[in-house]
Amino acid sequence: MSDNNKLQFATRAIHAGYDHHEHNRAVMPPIYQSSVFVHDRIGEALPFAYARSGTPTRESLEACIASLEEGRHGFAFASGMAAIDAVLRATLSPGDEVIAVADLYGGAWRLLTRVLEPAGIKVTFLDLGDPGNLAAALSDTVKLVWLESPSNPLLKLVDISALSRIAREAGVPVAIDNTFATPYLQRPLELGADIVVHSATKYLGGHSDVLLGLAVVRDDALARRIRFIQNSAGAVPGPQDCFLVMRGIKTLALRMERHCDNAEKIAVWLDSHPAVERVMYPGLASHPDHALARRQMARFGGIISIYLADDSRAAASRVAERLRFFGLAESLGGVESLINHSATMSHGSMTASDKHRLGIREGLLRLSVGIEDVADLIGDLEQALA
Ligand SMILES: *Cc1c(COP(=O)(O)O)cnc(C)c1O
Repeated sequence: MSDNNKLQFATRAIHAGYDHHEHNRAVMPPIYQSSVFVHDRIGEALPFAYARSGTPTRESLEACIASLEEGRHGFAFASGMAAIDAVLRATLSPGDEVIAVADLYGGAWRLLTRVLEPAGIKVTFLDLGDPGNLAAALSDTVKLVWLESPSNPLLKLVDISALSRIAREAGVPVAIDNTFATPYLQRPLELGADIVVHSATKYLGGHSDVLLGLAVVRDDALARRIRFIQNSAGAVPGPQDCFLVMRGIKTLALRMERHCDNAEKIAVWLDSHPAVERVMYPGLASHPDHALARRQMARFGGIISIYLADDSRAAASRVAERLRFFGLAESLGGVESLINHSATMSHGSMTASDKHRLGIREGLLRLSVGIEDVADLIGDLEQALA
């Protein structure tokens, strides 16, 4: 589709990146299950030659996510972590420094501290709730700012516009993990960020049946560097996985509305439950970043974290094991509800002192609210917390 940017989001989610006239009128993008493409003669320039460099199926997905994020170049990877790794490698060299928001996905934390740091890159974690903290920390060695908002698992927000403005003045690119919000709820490139990454394994795929990562940028030079890493390191997804994510994206707008409807109701219900000490959900007026969430997000998303009043692993286990519809699992963002014990699961790779510093307690549970009937979900939580 040409002129994608004149169309509304839900229309682009279904049509962007794919023209049925180019594929025998097939309504759905064909899965090009071929690793290689044939030249007619030596030296011929083909649009696709070898599947590590690209396939028509992957190209459709890359164009679709670029449109949805209001970017110009999209890149697909074998996982969210592979996308993050490619962005870090495209922007950082030994001797450089990256400033990362302190509260972030455990896997990103592990990659930064256990892979990048030993490779000679300085990693500085900062509380960026106050944008002034970034201004104070910028120096000539800083070559990237890494954000995540809302964060995993504590649902903290950072002011993407304010931080991007500060970084831009210093000539430092800003990358942000937009997995929790999805481009339906938040478009960081419009707010001034330079790079957006996704674990499409979560909401974009949406059905817990595929692992995939995405990155989007506007800048051509940045795009060339990411494409070079994508092709050189080769952590690319297969065509079947690209197809599944495209199919998921087609219903993203509908699904996100329902995730938000359900989560808003459940957050309010949990907020008055005696077994719950605190509910972390940006949609609650009591959330410290509620005003910011209203400014930079369309709605508040489908993830809710809670501190149980009884802050013990036994209490968390009891709740998790009694739930019928919230499966105890690592992931999030699928149509089905899931619950995660962050201290042992998504953030199990963090040191005890880092968990303590960030507030990842034994009694912390992260709910990925699915699109089931909300009365059934509340009924399930009621019996599990009783
Ligand atoms: C899951 C997740 C990732 C990692 O993505 P994978 O697809 O599992 O590699 C990165 N960031 C966030 C916020 C996530 O939730």
